[in-house]
Amino acid sequence: MGAAARDPLAGLNPAQREAVLHFEGPALVLAGAGSGKTRVLTTRIARLVEHHRVDPMQILAVTFTNKAAGEMRERITRLLGYEPKGMWAGTFHAIGARLLRAHAHLMGRTPNFTIYDEDDALNTVKRVMEKHGIQPKEVAPKSILSAISDAKNALVSPREYGELAMDPFTKTVAKVYPDLEPALRQANAVTFDDLLTLPVEILRAHPHVLAGYQHRFRFLLVDEYQDTNHVQFEFVRLLGGQTGNVMVVGDDDQSIYGWRGADIRNILDFEKTWPGAAVVRLEENYRSTPNVLELANVVIAENAGRRGKTLRATRPAGERVSLVGALDDRDEADFVVDEIAARRAGENRVLRHFAILYRTNAQSRSLEEALRRRAYPYRLVGSVRFYDRREIRDLMAYLKLIANPADGEAFRRVVNVPKRGIGDTSVDQIAARAGAMGIPLLEAARSAEVRESLRPAARTALAEFVNVIDKLRAAAPNVGVDELLRELVDAIKYGDHLKAEGPDWQERGENVRSLIDGAAETVIEDGGEVGLTPLDHFLQKATLVAGVDALDPNADAVTLMTMHNAKGLEFPVVFITGLEDGLFPLARAYDDPKQLEEERRLFYVGITRAEEKLYITHAEQRLRNGEKMQSRPSGFLDGLAPGLFDKKLTLKARSSGRAFMSGLGGGGGSGRGERGDRSWGSSSWGSRSERSTGNDRAARGGQTGFEGGDDFSWIDNKPSNRR
Ligand code: ATP
Ligand code: MG
Repeated sequence: MGAAARDPLAGLNPAQREAVLHFEGPALVLAGAGSGKTRVLTTRIARLVEHHRVDPMQILAVTFTNKAAGEMRERITRLLGYEPKGMWAGTFHAIGARLLRAHAHLMGRTPNFTIYDEDDALNTVKRVMEKHGIQPKEVAPKSILSAISDAKNALVSPREYGELAMDPFTKTVAKVYPDLEPALRQANAVTFDDLLTLPVEILRAHPHVLAGYQHRFRFLLVDEYQDTNHVQFEFVRLLGGQTGNVMVVGDDDQSIYGWRGADIRNILDFEKTWPGAAVVRLEENYRSTPNVLELANVVIAENAGRRGKTLRATRPAGERVSLVGALDDRDEADFVVDEIAARRAGENRVLRHFAILYRTNAQSRSLEEALRRRAYPYRLVGSVRFYDRREIRDLMAYLKLIANPADGEAFRRVVNVPKRGIGDTSVDQIAARAGAMGIPLLEAARSAEVRESLRPAARTALAEFVNVIDKLRAAAPNVGVDELLRELVDAIKYGDHLKAEGPDWQERGENVRSLIDGAAETVIEDGGEVGLTPLDHFLQKATLVAGVDALDPNADAVTLMTMHNAKGLEFPVVFITGLEDGLFPLARAYDDPKQLEEERRLFYVGITRAEEKLYITHAEQRLRNGEKMQSRPSGFLDGLAPGLFDKKLTLKARSSGRAFMSGLGGGGGSGRGERGDRSWGSSSWGSRSERSTGNDRAARGGQTGFEGGDDFSWIDNKPSNRR
């Protein structure tokens, strides 16, 4: 290939070219899905390096998911013909973590601080509540945690929060919030939110640090800017404040994280924040066929709060969009997999060409089963299920304690795993001592006072436990994480423990083995500057990236994920499943026009992932917690012109004598937001308790780098008065 093949400008349209050629000063690219925003961003980076001779070290590129960050690196490498060294490209959280590690001491941490997951953060909140005598029955710890999370993302300090607190709930939060930071500091830990708020605090409080980064990062580029929240906005504003070389790209129609504090005004008011910003609009869609695009345009036109954009198709007409009614979720899954099989055989397609999207992670189960029945490999993006397993959580907690002996939550989790006769009373004694002395639990466990207060058996057991941690701690800097894990499993006889725990020990043992295999592949990325051990790298990666993907990224597999996680991606064939009232849109969205519009934007995101063929499916019945629930087609389908689709029923639905279930073309009488039939929606998906079933970590979604997402579980743990 000659140089021409790598000319980054080749093939760009005039507007794209203008954006790529933009050199200094602020710039905004506001354009619809598939118009080449991300391509412009990566091409501009290549141009900065290649043409303007900008050192990659001086470039900071922020994307929304780890996957997107990886793809960005790949695209730039392809354009340049080599890998840009020293460039910071990642999610806001990954970049924040890196900055925080470099200045951890300014926030009372050491560089190997632990990133607490949702459970750990929740436990910390519970302990602070206990201290204040706040009963979990009166105020749910989860709602307190999420109120604090909202406050942090809005950069509202504990003091400010206290001044604003009016009602009983916020007043309770105001008691807990100020004590959370000291508790985390004590454990040398941070929450996900802290990965953004603490760096901003550092940059605000230490002008020389800010100046250093402003000087280093001459060019800032942000993808998916419509989904930034206040703290992210501030982060960008601070870092770019000196040069003003900030380019953001985004699409207001794809703003889907309002429930997490994302503020669409960040993009709409960009020119106010950055006066004189160049504004570029891209109006050609290169991704999807006209049929797919027409549906996308019609769907999004229903939303009132829009800036309005033109998006023209450039591809030749393709197949019509299929709208498919199934009998139940299993039938829906079978249909999807049958279609994949047929297209694979008939059209020379590989599995990588297919993506199955859904609103909630819970929907993946029947799809996974159907894929397994056909022995099709699949990739479940954003699933944290692996890390949720008890055995994995145990061993990860051990590793966290080894890496960060101040981690109190890790200590509590493993001090009696396997059972050593160190019960709650003993732990309480250790914790009391730690509290009194202001030292970590592990430290307290060494103290003579604590030991003497314990029964002899517990005393010996505790000494042994401390010994194991110390031994592995000493080994950690010098051995691979896989080796460390093997030693750990040996030292605590974890295999025996699993056998004693239950009949599924073999499967659990397999999981332990995959953890070890995964650990063997820990790559140390540039970041050695703060002297982290392989273990520190592994833990950081595991917490930020999550969802062990057993498949290598190039393996041929079907992709399954939520629509939130699909943002920015594209696939030749896309299935959007579960278009049913109460599921998509979620039931609660009917009460709030703003939420309904956000759900519709999510639908727009889903539709615009498809390059050539789009299927939209719904089922008449869906299994939910072992119960069959009746459902009806989504209100999103009401009133759409029949000509937009090719409508059909699955074989099973047809043979069961069903009439076509969707009211499409039949006048679509029931107005949005006032549907009478919410039985399915609200009883099945609407109950609070059910939503607190532990996928919250996943829900942190792409921004955390946690490409996870039972987003609905997170939404619903927010107090309803949140904003
Ligand atoms: P989204 O809003 O979904 O993130 P986007 O605006 O970032 O979309 P890209 O992913 O950059 O869009 O581009 C969509 C597709 O169109 C990609 O496959 C990209 O390579 C292709 N594309 C972009 N610009 C052109 C062009 N000028 N000629 C041909 N293909 C293009
Ligand atoms: Mg993009």
